[in-house]
Amino acid sequence: MLENTSRTDIETLGEFGLIEHLTSVFENKNSSTLKGVGDDAAVIKNGEHCTLISTDLLLEGVHFDLSYYPLKHLGYKAVSVNVSDIYAMNATPKQITVSIGMSSKFSIEAIEEIYAGIKAACDAYEVDLIGGDTSASKQGLIISITAIGEADEKNIVYRSGAKDGDLLCVTGDLGGAYVGLQVLEREKQVFLANPQAQPDLDGHDYIIGRQLKPDARKDVIEFFKKTELKPTSMIDISDGLSSEIFHLCSKSEIGITIYEDKIPIDPTTYNMAREFDFDPTMTTLNGGEDYELLFTINPADYDKVKNDPNITIIGHCVPRSEGVHMISKSGNKHALKAQGWKAF
Ligand code: ADP
Ligand code: MG
Repeated sequence: MLENTSRTDIETLGEFGLIEHLTSVFENKNSSTLKGVGDDAAVIKNGEHCTLISTDLLLEGVHFDLSYYPLKHLGYKAVSVNVSDIYAMNATPKQITVSIGMSSKFSIEAIEEIYAGIKAACDAYEVDLIGGDTSASKQGLIISITAIGEADEKNIVYRSGAKDGDLLCVTGDLGGAYVGLQVLEREKQVFLANPQAQPDLDGHDYIIGRQLKPDARKDVIEFFKKTELKPTSMIDISDGLSSEIFHLCSKSEIGITIYEDKIPIDPTTYNMAREFDFDPTMTTLNGGEDYELLFTINPADYDKVKNDPNITIIGHCVPRSEGVHMISKSGNKHALKAQGWKAF
């Protein structure tokens, strides 16, 4: 007999509420566990150095659709999204493990393609594939990757270090991965309606590349090292800018004000958002999967970022009591909502 006969839908808590609900009863017993649940990666102290660990699960039909996802790209992306979480701690990824579950519809050649992408990513990020697990699955493809990184304790950047007055910065541009996905979905529908139709992907290379082959910001971590810049807090943008801003705010106990006209968006993303009748700003705020870095810096470090073409200052930190807002292009102040990508 079931002890607990009540039934609550996962939806009532949402992804983050559920993680919090399930993990809050666990206490860390080992002094080597510097950071457990609640950041982009866990931090384990081994003498002078720290080891960072992050894991992600990708499921066919939930995270990717094989009707338009080339397998090689999928392998590459699976590694990118994991090492991105290690970079988000200002650490260097060193190893990965890869676990894979596949149904009998997959051939050896298909799995080889995924591994060709994993290999390309291991070369790009200079990480070693050190193990994993392989299993049959009843249905579809499952890939789970764990990334292991290294850092000196003093260099690690958490989500929790932002202070009132710090500047909020973002790398690259936002929203591209989301509109890229919409183009792929649109062409899939055209194909389903008429299998003779050829996909019309011309002119959309940039946004489709942002969706299918995201690159984690290794270069930005190297820039921090070179310029001796240590952000006060950092997170990678997997779910969408606004959702990640809320994570920084709650972990750092601050508020944030951003400026709509500062949010970086590529012209191709902007035009495509318009074509789909999306508000381009909403696309950058809630799109997700950009794998850019969102971080705060002490204003004294402004000179180190001001001329860098990869970094845009989009706002600043304010006291917690002031909340989270966006100043629109017309100068109005709007409360920001953490929509992001809904897992449930
Ligand atoms: P990210 O988007 O950076 O990958 P997540 O939102 O997936 O981070 O996870 C947030 C935190 O919750 C991380 O510390 C992660 O390790 C932890 N976490 C996620 N799912 C679980 C779970 N099922 N059990 C324990 N910890 C989890
Ligand atoms: Mg993350």
